[in-house]
Amino acid sequence: MSGLKKSAFSVVDFATRFDTEDKCREHFFQLRFPHGFVCPKCGGSSCGQIRTRGLYQCKTCRKQISATSGTVFHGTHVSLRIWIWAIYLFTIDKRGCSALQLMRELKVTYKTAWFILHRLRIAMSHRESRYMLDSFVELDDTYLGTSTHGKKRGRGTEKAKIMVAVSKSREGIPMFAKMAVMPNLHSIEVGKFALKNIAEGTHISSDNASSYKKGLAEKYFHHFKTFEPEADELVTLHTFISNFKAFIAGTYHGAERVHLQLYLDEFCFRFNRRNYDARLFERLLTAGLECAYVGDLG
Ligand SMILES: [Zn+2]
Repeated sequence: MSGLKKSAFSVVDFATRFDTEDKCREHFFQLRFPHGFVCPKCGGSSCGQIRTRGLYQCKTCRKQISATSGTVFHGTHVSLRIWIWAIYLFTIDKRGCSALQLMRELKVTYKTAWFILHRLRIAMSHRESRYMLDSFVELDDTYLGTSTHGKKRGRGTEKAKIMVAVSKSREGIPMFAKMAVMPNLHSIEVGKFALKNIAEGTHISSDNASSYKKGLAEKYFHHFKTFEPEADELVTLHTFISNFKAFIAGTYHGAERVHLQLYLDEFCFRFNRRNYDARLFERLLTAGLECAYVGDLG
């Protein structure tokens, strides 16, 4: 299967490595505290385990914490083995994994599978929000047909407006990408997107639509180059958009409008780490552990 990533371990190795809840918990713990335990309450550096309850206890202040408390994995009623396998299946194939596939592979309900993937996307989105694009950036917008299931008017489709930015090296090699669902493509919103996602001094290329010219003028970008829309100078970006649309259609058979931003962030997370191969598993697990999760987003 061409979509499969090179893996540092076989499925058999993986199954052996994570064959008990205790081994999974230990792995979560090691990734959460890579430089040794630090108590979130008192800063103490020594802890013991309460094996019967799957908890760790600070030896200084006696606070009990789980390996996942306060992260996207917290309070989910999903075992750590299921989380580990879900992340494995979600990252081992660059085409991703739908809730239906996950449900079948892990023998969980569709609701649980959807919930797991939703939380993993929140972790990806959180991680992506840390970075800005720089160097040379191609900027454009696109539309995507989305399902509006759940809205009062019932099931339907709606074209979502999306801004897309892809950075390149000086040699023209694609580097990183950002996408955002836009309320509109007026100059004010274009300017806001650029300020949030593109670093000062970046060279930006776009077509010469007036909303781009106005939205990016007077901002702090170093250089601004425009093309006629039909010139199709934004080759890197348009290839990226085609791949994104194929990803959404192929894996998810479309996306719900209300969750679209998370799908955009998932695709960018994958694109921005496209050379990570099997390391993507650990990176996503770490992203989930570092994503402070408060409240119930679903
Ligand atoms: Zn403590």
